Amino acid sequence: MDLIIIGGGIGGSTLALAAHAANPGQRIRVFEAAPEIRPLGVGINLGPHAVKELSHLGLEDALAAVACQPQDYAFFTRHGQLVYREPWGRAAGHQWPHFSIHRADLHQVLLDAVRDRLGAESFITGHRCIGVEQSDTGVTVRFAGADGIALEPQRGDAAIACDGIHSAVRAQFYPDEGPFVYRGTNLWRGVTRMAPYLTGRSIARIGARHSTLILYAIRNNIDAAGRMLVNWVAEIEREIAVPVDWNKPGRLEDFFPVYQDWTFDWLDVPAMMRNADLILSYPMVDRNPLTRWSFGRVTLLGDAAHPMYPQGGNGGAQAILDAAALARLLKSEPDPVAALRAYEAARLPPTSRIVLQNRSAPPNVIVDAVEQRTQGKRFDRLEDVISTDELKAIFERYQKVAGYHVQQVGKR
Ligand SMILES: Cc1cc2nc3c(=O)[nH]c(=O)nc-3n(C[C@H](O)[C@H](O)[C@H](O)COP(=O)(O)OP(=O)(O)OC[C@H]3O[C@@H](n4cnc5c(N)ncnc54)[C@H](O)[C@@H]3O)c2cc1C
Repeated sequence: MDLIIIGGGIGGSTLALAAHAANPGQRIRVFEAAPEIRPLGVGINLGPHAVKELSHLGLEDALAAVACQPQDYAFFTRHGQLVYREPWGRAAGHQWPHFSIHRADLHQVLLDAVRDRLGAESFITGHRCIGVEQSDTGVTVRFAGADGIALEPQRGDAAIACDGIHSAVRAQFYPDEGPFVYRGTNLWRGVTRMAPYLTGRSIARIGARHSTLILYAIRNNIDAAGRMLVNWVAEIEREIAVPVDWNKPGRLEDFFPVYQDWTFDWLDVPAMMRNADLILSYPMVDRNPLTRWSFGRVTLLGDAAHPMYPQGGNGGAQAILDAAALARLLKSEPDPVAALRAYEAARLPPTSRIVLQNRSAPPNVIVDAVEQRTQGKRFDRLEDVISTDELKAIFERYQKVAGYHVQQVGKR
């Protein structure tokens, strides 16, 4: 098996490692469009379901050395009043931890392992895929360099498109797909160096549908004062989508007015936003689930296959689960066409459910239910508004669809 992986992001790098672990003898090459890998992005969450797969690849210690491990998930109203809190990750009884991590740190751990285990020559930068062709005996992938000039085409037995949200391979199979689906929410994502808040290991989700704020630490003890690097995401309803670009700088004045009075006894949101090192914008967009990813010797993986709202810790995690499943099937099924078909059968239905769940019942429905009943006002006693059982049921429903409920992943 000569495997060509198109795109060396989170999904492509994980697939290279998983396929190598499953079958160390096979030839694997990753072709990445970027001329060099730079530390891009901000925070990303990896639930125990994804960490389980990365642990099987021997990466848990390397990730634990750079990531944060939240121990509780807490929901608050926009007045900073606690609605619900649950233990999280290992504290919830999971066998594997939950990692909140800078995307650049995650990517670096994966890349170091790819170069170390497969050889530096297996990760080839400066190769933008511009098309794939196939016959009964193999695939040919065409590339262009950063200057747009065509490079030598590469032949293999199968090609896996891990080329992200703007996948060229998906566009080849679905040329009439049209624009992304936008339903009226933009994200402004920032990172701020600050003192620990709440337990020091809390994921906090504040507010509901119209304006939400999520925050979690992604680097611990970054200075002598024991500060953390905190990732925060402001989700706000807006009529017009910002560009679909992970690296688009965001402007404070475009969202700050919504949060300027969010000063609580446990968090000063305006100060956190004003002190950000970096702010990026991104729209809450996805695409309708496809009915087919695999076309003979070519298939789609990660965001190329199932772009979904970047929430609930799913974007990166589902790409990792895809990669692990595909590597297992490429090992057990010697015919690449049959392996890619089996991969699609295994992974398309669950990821489609998450795409739809993120639209209809996102993680913040828990606060939404409270704010609807209080009409956005402060409450005196939470139990007069909603019962703990109802809150728990809402919280567990999301985890089960996303596939990281403790009953699904494995207890300690
Ligand atoms: C620069 C960048 C920053 C990001 N920052 C964040 C973040 O801060 N938080 C977050 O939650 N998610 C972020 N994401 C998205 C996140 O990584 C993905 O949603 C998720 O991990 C799914 O992984 P993926 O491998 O499918 O896609 P990605 O991780 O996006 O990887 C796709 C890879 O394919 C490469 N590529 C694209 N087109 C081609 C082509 N034609 N030929 C060859 N290679 C190609 C890209 O350069 C990229 O390396 C970022 C993505 C990128 C590319």
